[in-house]
Amino acid sequence: MTVTTETDTATDWLLDDGLAPQSDGDPMAPLYDGAARGELVLPFCVRCDVPLDLEQQVCDRCGSFEKDWRSTELVGIVHSSTLMHRLEAGLVTATTPYPIIDVELAGGHRLIMTTIDPTSTAPRIGDAVLIGFRTLGGVSIPAARINPAPLDTEARP
Ligand SMILES: [Zn+2]
Repeated sequence: MTVTTETDTATDWLLDDGLAPQSDGDPMAPLYDGAARGELVLPFCVRCDVPLDLEQQVCDRCGSFEKDWRSTELVGIVHSSTLMHRLEAGLVTATTPYPIIDVELAGGHRLIMTTIDPTSTAPRIGDAVLIGFRTLGGVSIPAARINPAPLDTEARP
């Protein structure tokens, strides 16, 4: 049996490693730390518990400035999606169009992401997605796996 421990040589399908977020002092560090553990950690208002946007400083509902980062469910649905046509050598690795998806997460957050695997198809609004992670320059970031349609197991004559 071969044991390989250096598995971090994988490169992202979409972006150059140089675009990886710097986690030192980044206000979104809890998100990246959680992602490294395979968890989707997002902010909630400490006082009234509503889901907050990633960079939101003040709760819209109660005015609190305090947030609490918690692990949330790794499922959601496509709120909107688009296909990005972008050629930018040196930054964008992909040379074909790629999807950008606004995901409405089961935990109440909205998060914009692309897919885990390369694809040139944008998912449909309402499609179910599972949240997984891409690795960009050693940093894990959320990405969507478009759920296969509910299993079509009906026996065909
Ligand atoms: Zn609040």
